[in-house]
Amino acid sequence: MLDLDLRSILKCVRCGACRSVCPVLEEVGWESAGARGRILVAHGISQGLDVDADVLESLNTCMTCGMCKQMCPAGANPTYVIENTRRQLVMRGEMTEAQRKLNERIMESGNSLGEVSDRRSWLSEYKGEIKETAGYVYFVGCLGAYRYPESVVATFDVLSRFDVTILPDEICCGSPLIRTGFDVDELIAHNIEQMRKVGAHTFITSCAGCHNTLIQSYPDEFEVMHVSEFLEQHLPELQLRRLKLTVTYHDACHLGRCRGVFDAPRRVIEAVCDLKEMKTNRENARCCGGGGGVRTGYPDLSLALAKKRLEEIPDGVDYLITSCPLCTKNLIEGGSDTDVLDLVELVRLAIE
Ligand code: SF4
Ligand code: SF4
Repeated sequence: MLDLDLRSILKCVRCGACRSVCPVLEEVGWESAGARGRILVAHGISQGLDVDADVLESLNTCMTCGMCKQMCPAGANPTYVIENTRRQLVMRGEMTEAQRKLNERIMESGNSLGEVSDRRSWLSEYKGEIKETAGYVYFVGCLGAYRYPESVVATFDVLSRFDVTILPDEICCGSPLIRTGFDVDELIAHNIEQMRKVGAHTFITSCAGCHNTLIQSYPDEFEVMHVSEFLEQHLPELQLRRLKLTVTYHDACHLGRCRGVFDAPRRVIEAVCDLKEMKTNRENARCCGGGGGVRTGYPDLSLALAKKRLEEIPDGVDYLITSCPLCTKNLIEGGSDTDVLDLVELVRLAIE
């Protein structure tokens, strides 16, 4: 067991301060569904605890939202311990059926949805040119490519005005597998080779999971920007018109709390319309319920958590703006009464 795991365990045992902030613990009610419970389970495993269905559920219902880590007065790192323990169990062949199927899907198809159709079929709706080489690559991501082609077309339509292209053969960045305990060396090597082919120095992503993974798990050879950061830098060239809209913004955990990208999306939004904040926002924003493999493994829990997040939409807004397709999916499927719109689609409206 790593020192960091042990330090976190010793800190948690007598604490429990983060019980009040874990959305899963609030929903499920059992101590084993919060950071302290999960850390004690991880400790138990290191001491020989049998891994049964309850143990797997305790570890795998964590959304890795980072709320506990952020507020921990003792500096414990539960998300690290949980992901590390998932990884140790996967290496021993101990995993849920949902984990096993997710790994199989991604390794066989190259995407988290198990789609066999062309990942670039969204290009049929894109009217512009594709540069063979460029300094920046728009890394589209699985969910965008297969579930939100209109949003991907809007994003590439805006980005391709600059020195931006796409990879000839992009595959999953590996985020869903890393979060659930698997190795993704093959996926990383493939995407890196593609980056070198187009001579790019920077990834641009519009997915919080891809963004976090490209920073955390890919070599330092490439810079990584979220699309909101790129657009913020290029606001003067975009010459956006003002829209008569009031919107609210959902901070994706892996973009906001995890990577500190809070201001760029807000500056882009405020350049085109009025922003009214959700009840919890920035570093205190509630998770959409989709992260950490919870959407795949525990869909009912995930949607219940999405509903809670939707209760935080302020009155009188035209759109709920997101900056991650997994959040978009979960919040729409959670039953949002407010239309959900990707940040770049909002920008696209201000260009037309
Ligand atoms: S993660 Fe931090 S706040 Fe939560 S129980 Fe452990 S020591 Fe306490
Ligand atoms: S990362 Fe989020 S879901 Fe996981 S234990 Fe911490 S607060 Fe709960």
